[in-house]
Order: sequence, then C-alpha cells, then structure tokens
Amino acid sequence: MHDLIVVGAGLAGLALAARAQEAGQDVAVIEARSRIGGRSLVHRTASGCYDLGPAWIWPAMQPRVARAAAALGLRLYRQADEGGFVFQDSDGTAQRLPHGFTQEPPSMRIEGGIAALAEGFAARLAPGTIRLGTRVERLVLESDAVGVETGAAALRARRVALALPPRLAATIGFAPALPAASLRQFEAVPTWMAGHAKALAIYDAPVWRASGLSGGAFSRCGPLGEIHDASLPGAAGEAALFGFFAWPAAMRAARRARLEDAVRAQLASLFGPAAGSPRALLIQDWSTDELTATPADAPPLAGHPAYAPLALPAPWRDRVLLSGSESAPEFGGYLEGALAAAEAAAAMNAQHGGGLPAAGVAAGR
Ligand SMILES: Cc1cc2nc3c(=O)[nH]c(=O)nc-3n(C[C@H](O)[C@H](O)[C@H](O)COP(=O)(O)OP(=O)(O)OC[C@H]3O[C@@H](n4cnc5c(N)ncnc54)[C@H](O)[C@@H]3O)c2cc1C
Repeated sequence: MHDLIVVGAGLAGLALAARAQEAGQDVAVIEARSRIGGRSLVHRTASGCYDLGPAWIWPAMQPRVARAAAALGLRLYRQADEGGFVFQDSDGTAQRLPHGFTQEPPSMRIEGGIAALAEGFAARLAPGTIRLGTRVERLVLESDAVGVETGAAALRARRVALALPPRLAATIGFAPALPAASLRQFEAVPTWMAGHAKALAIYDAPVWRASGLSGGAFSRCGPLGEIHDASLPGAAGEAALFGFFAWPAAMRAARRARLEDAVRAQLASLFGPAAGSPRALLIQDWSTDELTATPADAPPLAGHPAYAPLALPAPWRDRVLLSGSESAPEFGGYLEGALAAAEAAAAMNAQHGGGLPAAGVAAGR
C-alpha cells in the first residue's frame, strides 16, 4: 500500500509528489496521458520549445513560481514587445500603431519552455514513481485506505490527492458516491483557459520586424484575438508568433476545416503577406482535450474566476484531497496556483497525520 497516490502529473501533482517523497513517503503518481505536464505543453523544434499551453509567469507577484524557477536554475526572459502594434477592428480593418503594447508587470517566459518547471519536479522523483497512460476511473473508500481503480490495475493508498481540475474530479467514480451537491459544486468550477485555443506560427525569420512591428496585435474580428511574438531567444533561422483564438470553442468546431486558412489570412492582413506563409502552423485547442476540458468549459468566461479551496465531504475528506490549481487557496487557475495548491495539500496531509511537512513544497528543494 502507498502512503500517497497523486492523480495527475501536472505541475501541481508533481510538486506535491516530490515533497511527499522527499519526506519519506511511499508515493505513486498516476497520469492518464502518455506525458507529464498536463496543461504545460510544448512543441519542440531543433531550436527549442514553444509553449502551447501556459507561457507567462510574473515572478514579482508569484513567489512560489519564482522560487521554483530559481531553484531549478531556469533562465527567464521578457515577453518581446518592442516595435509597433497592430489593432484590427471588427470589420477587419488593421491599424498599425507606432508604439508597442507593454504588459505591466512584464510577462516573463522560461527558456526551454514552461514545461521545464514540471520536468524539474519530476526529475526529483525516484524512478518508477510516475505511471503514464493510466487513467484513474474510480476511488473506493476502505476502512484504512482508498482503493484507486484504473482500467488495468487496482492500487491502494492511505491518502489520495486529486491534482486535477474539480470538473475532472467530478468525472471520477466514487464508492460510496459523492453527494449530488458536491458534484454540482465541483462541476461549477471553471477550468482556467480550458475553453481556449492557441495558434503557433513558425517562420524562417521574424518577418514582422522588417516593418518595425513587434508581432503584437489585438483583433476584434478574429480568428485570433491577441497575438504576440513567440520567438525563442538566440534561435538563429527561426522565429514565431502565437495567438489566442477570439473565436469561441463552438465557432472553432463549426469552422474546423478552414481554421488554419483563416489564421494564415489574418496573419497576412496584420503583418504583411510573408506572415501568411509560416513554415509550420500548429493549433492547440484545449476545449477538445478531454483531460483538461469538459463541455461546460466551452462557453467563454467573462473574466478570471474567483477560485477558493475545495474539500470533499465526509467520509472522504480525511482520505482524498483536491490539489489542482483550481482548488488553490490563492492564484487559483495559474501555475502559481498549482504550486499553492500543492503546498496546501501538503499542509493538510501533515495535519491529518500523513507526515508531510506543511511548508516548502514550492521551494524547489
Ligand atoms: C492555453 C492556456 C494558457 C495558459 N496560460 C497561462 C499562463 O500564461 N500563466 C499561468 O500561470 N497559467 C496559465 N494557464 C493555466 C495553467 O496551465 C494551469 O494553472 C496549470 O497548468 C495547472 O496545473 P495543474 O497541475 O493544476 O493541472 P493540469 O496541468 O491540468 O494537470 C492535471 C493532470 O491530471 C491528469 N488527469 C486528469 N484526469 C485524470 C484521471 N482521471 N486519471 C489520471 N490523470 C488524470 C491530466 O492529464 C493532467 O496531466 C494556461 C492554460 C492554458 C490551457
């Protein structure tokens, strides 16, 4: 029997698992995907890694991410924003403004891609700790343990941490069943950015800079609503743009066959004809990723939700913790929230006699 089974090898799950194992616990991490990182997903080329999920951190405001990045020796660089900015109106008219659009505080990127954070925590785990390609289907409460059922195996642990969005926790079977009110509560928590999609366009050169543009743009007509330079520092012979879709999930689904053409046409109209012919164009639609989004995540959100810690009801409360970013005590939904949630889960585990130190999960130690 394990001391702790962590369900989900995103940043939250890996941060919690690393700390628990370093405290001497017998830990297993169960991950449905064939890779670690969860929403931290990168596209690799010979030049480096481009972020298809989260890309930005704000170390001045986010102490856990800042500490973890520093402890892992990760190098940060500022989101490129020098040069002119393009504003596209709802009728498609593009206006080139001479000034950049500067984010305040500046958004910072991680050299090597954002997944380096999750990979750093995973590297601290003993070989064999993470089981990939294993989806947890049902939790069974026993007198002194929790049974964790996957398609292929049944595992047991004294405690389980669900390091995933509450909406996905609600899709797991519970025996005895969770009260309907708890399921409704979990289903009501939006998964941050789960309804979104990103486009990544890779070029041989930063063709937008030739016209004095930063690669930054806002559009009221789409398909992309916000575009930024995604070029990797020091990558010779390669440059990139990325954009968030303004078209909501339902519109993207209806226009799927023409989505790439629409993106190419928009990039050309904003940054000039050469921008319409990237070497590669990738679209990562998170709303169709069933290990991130549920159908409830498809409608656009009005803003960042007010997340709050969540707990399972008795008799589950002492045995199963919710520890994904959307259950964090602060910065819910963000990478910082993933580390805050891991920290809080460690504290709860220690409180309930799990032997985990309460502090320092995100200290990168
Ligand atoms: C497009 C996009 C842009 C974003 N931009 C930013 C940004 O710039 N800055 C920022 O701070 N945050 C950003 N975010 C949010 C950030 O990605 C999340 O806060 C963070 O990744 C959450 O980590 P997590 O470990 O809590 O969850 P996840 O990364 O979602 O990990 C959950 C894991 O659980 C696994 N899983 C699910 N169900 C099961 C099951 N039944 N059995 C086994 N495994 C299961 C999943 O496969 C996944 O690996 C963005 C997200 C997206 C999608």
